[in-house]
Amino acid sequence: MTGEPQADCLFCKIVAKEVPATVVRESETTLAFRDINPQAPTHVLVIPKVHHPDAASLAAAEPAIAADVLREAGEVAVQEGLDSYRTVFNTGSGAGQTVFHAHAHVLGGRGLQWPPG
Ligand code: AMP
Ligand code: ZN
Repeated sequence: MTGEPQADCLFCKIVAKEVPATVVRESETTLAFRDINPQAPTHVLVIPKVHHPDAASLAAAEPAIAADVLREAGEVAVQEGLDSYRTVFNTGSGAGQTVFHAHAHVLGGRGLQWPPG
């Protein structure tokens, strides 16, 4: 059931501490940790502790937790000393989504192209 931990989900395993991660922030509802394959000097993932497959599903089911993810993304940027940063939600494999547990990428510390690729 959506919202419940999924046995085959990497990010649920990180929430459960069954897989290690470099955690930079934690709240009651969210976890923020460094991306294992960083695309910028700062590349942190902010995830809800509950399982939803993508950001829109999270927002539809648990809007307060979606707001927590956005707020925590901003707090990560403050903590990392970023004046400018980009928050990305890839949705669907065609957009590069590889982990189907909602997550925000927080990217910064270098110039970021617009429009993105
Ligand atoms: P996405 O491609 O948008 O689904 O983002 C998934 C992200 O998770 C990618 O940027 C991966 O580099 C990252 N990732 C995969 N495995 C791990 C891990 N064990 N710890 C931290 N980040 C990971
Ligand atoms: Zn999950």
